[in-house]
Amino acid sequence: RVYSVMESRLARSEYLGGDEFSLLLRGIEKPADAAAIAERITRTMSTPFSIDGHQIAIGASVGIAMAPDDGTTTDQLMKNADLALYRAKAEGRSTFHFFERGMDEAIQHRRQIEAGLRLALARNEFRLVYQPLVGLKEDRITCLEALLRWDHAEKGTISPAEFIPIAEETGLIVQIGEWVLREACRTAMTWPTDARVAVNLSTVQFKNKKLYETVVAALQESGLPPTRLELEITESLLLAESEPTLQTLHKLRALGVRISMDDFGTGYSSLSYLRSFPFDKIKIDRSFMRDLERKGDSLAIIKAVIGLGHSLGMSTTAEGIETEEQLAAVREQGCNEVQGFLFSPPVDARAVIDMLKKEAQPKLRRVS
Ligand code: C2E
Ligand code: MG
Ligand code: MG
Repeated sequence: RVYSVMESRLARSEYLGGDEFSLLLRGIEKPADAAAIAERITRTMSTPFSIDGHQIAIGASVGIAMAPDDGTTTDQLMKNADLALYRAKAEGRSTFHFFERGMDEAIQHRRQIEAGLRLALARNEFRLVYQPLVGLKEDRITCLEALLRWDHAEKGTISPAEFIPIAEETGLIVQIGEWVLREACRTAMTWPTDARVAVNLSTVQFKNKKLYETVVAALQESGLPPTRLELEITESLLLAESEPTLQTLHKLRALGVRISMDDFGTGYSSLSYLRSFPFDKIKIDRSFMRDLERKGDSLAIIKAVIGLGHSLGMSTTAEGIETEEQLAAVREQGCNEVQGFLFSPPVDARAVIDMLKKEAQPKLRRVS
């Protein structure tokens, strides 16, 4: 009887959105039985098919709730299946997820972040902090990396590691990224030296056709010479090997803007990425510095990447330098530039000016 009540309620689509479907399965003995069916559905749905000679690719995500553990009423089961579905979608298309306890809270939190992000720009809740990159030969700050901070009204300062992925999934990164570019270029014009400013670009920003125009506008509005701007991208951008992306990169570089490969060594680290585009700079991920003292192979990799940079004509930067030992090690290998807490954490725009002014004075060059 329970089944038939559920069946009739589900048939009336009380719970479902326009592109959603429900399956009420009996005779499921263990989670793996449901998983096998979900697997078949997502696999079948993601097989491209053709309509009028056009290849059409769609996908499906599945959320699973099991009775009686995840609920014994239609309302409970559907609500929990929906939470599981939400998670499946967040993990990428064409996948399934079981309901888990605590999901409710996690998703609530995510929804709040998402809603907050939509308002954050208008509410002026973003600010940029800057972290120096120090040229070892020059013995001065050659560049400052702009890092985004979000001061949430209730939750306090939220780390970019938490909100950038959500901004990317929702597409909000396009607007936010535009603000970052403008603000960073404008701020760099107030610096007393000609140190460059580095801005992180998300892969999603490249999917927007106006990225090039956005960069040009930020440069023109601020009057910042293109040679003082560096754009940091990650390996994931080159994963798709898309022609428009490479074209955009080449156009930006033709302006005089420098292009850096960020966090090198964390993704697929295919050497072909270094061949696919003439990067100006390789930033070696800080995970290698962390392991430097404990693992000999980290030093071997750092050495190899610096060597590669030298032969390809790309400058190298070691990220996450926290100790004198790490500094000595990368210096010995011929690294060009270093960044990390040993020199300075990210600081606000005011402190940057003080730092650069101090540096401009003779003899007082080391930042601390
Ligand atoms: P990233 O671009 O690799 O930035 C460096 C991160 O390492 C920063 O974290 C910085 O505070 C941290 N860091 C620097 N030196 C050290 C060190 O010596 N030790 C340790 N443990 N950490 C160090 P943050 O500011 O939390 O940023 C995290 C990531 O968020 C950035 O990684 C970047 O991928 C992303 N991000 C930040 N701002 C933006 C932005 O405006 N746009 C985009 N698309 N991504 C951004
Ligand atoms: Mg970066
Ligand atoms: Mg990095």
